[in-house]
Amino acid sequence: MQKNLMLAVVKVSAAPGVVIKKVPIPKPGKDEVLVKVIYASICGTDIGIYDWIPWAAAHIKPPTIIGHEMVGKVLKVNTKQKTDIKVGDLVSSETHIFCLNCFQCKIKNYHVCENIQLFGIGRDGAYAEYATIPLRTTWKNDPAISIEAMSVQEPLGNAVNAVGKAKVKGKKVLIMGLGPTGLCAGGVARATGAKEVVGVNDEPYRRKLAMKTGWFDRVVDVLDIKEHNSFDTVLEMSGNRLGIEVAFDAVRIAGTIIAFGIPKENISIDWGKYLINKELIIRSVFGRQLWKTWHQTTDLLKSGKVDLSKIITHKFRLKDFDKAMAVMKSRQCGKIILEP
Ligand SMILES: [Zn+2]
Ligand SMILES: [Zn+2]
Repeated sequence: MQKNLMLAVVKVSAAPGVVIKKVPIPKPGKDEVLVKVIYASICGTDIGIYDWIPWAAAHIKPPTIIGHEMVGKVLKVNTKQKTDIKVGDLVSSETHIFCLNCFQCKIKNYHVCENIQLFGIGRDGAYAEYATIPLRTTWKNDPAISIEAMSVQEPLGNAVNAVGKAKVKGKKVLIMGLGPTGLCAGGVARATGAKEVVGVNDEPYRRKLAMKTGWFDRVVDVLDIKEHNSFDTVLEMSGNRLGIEVAFDAVRIAGTIIAFGIPKENISIDWGKYLINKELIIRSVFGRQLWKTWHQTTDLLKSGKVDLSKIITHKFRLKDFDKAMAVMKSRQCGKIILEP
């Protein structure tokens, strides 16, 4: 490696694809840390970024180093603030970089900051040998957790936040969509006392993987959900039109729907039939509460109640990012981890 250069996955222009190339090692700005990336994991969002969907075009100004789920070792802490983060710590980044100034930040609702900036999307991220992270979104990991799991705390955190809002203890739960967050939601629902956990996915590989985790009582194709007005809680994590329709049908009267999956298109629903007549509780969830969700996630991982190694299926070198993305798009995978 040439001095002061590192390998990185860069969105170089406003078009599909990425370029894997040498770029300068970043310097930490004021109140930032510099980390050596150990693992970064591929998120569903990264597929849209790779393919350059309209959402990506609206949020990324190339050139940008992408990647936001990660664990790394702190090499430098550039701050005069008081902090417990020090050189050598194993840290992860919270993707939602908050501003501290807006109304939501003032009421400590940081994850829905009005001026949110996204790590690895609105600024350089972690598909690289080194990365800089704002100190205020740097999470110091508990060394009792496996290093692989440290890089997969974003989907688990989403699941912890979503399942927590649904209050699933003793409930019959349907999880629509079994990407990493949906899979994790099964683990969290099981660990927090759900009576029955049913998973839904149209991809046989994902159904098999979900059953192997032991977190689900049943895993079926969306077309096999014939139970109407049956589930106390539906976690909608697919963002899929059919999945959303089935979710509203399958939830019981006065049940709860947690909206998490982001559709690629506008979705319309029968307002009278579902929202009024069924008297549902609908709760949307966007990311993880800071830092409450991260503490809960740590507890779950330490307790062994949710073992993320069950859903980590592939590991690739960073230089093989295009290969990893092809597997990701094939959906013949759980979580994919990259190693610089
Ligand atoms: Zn993500
Ligand atoms: Zn804010």
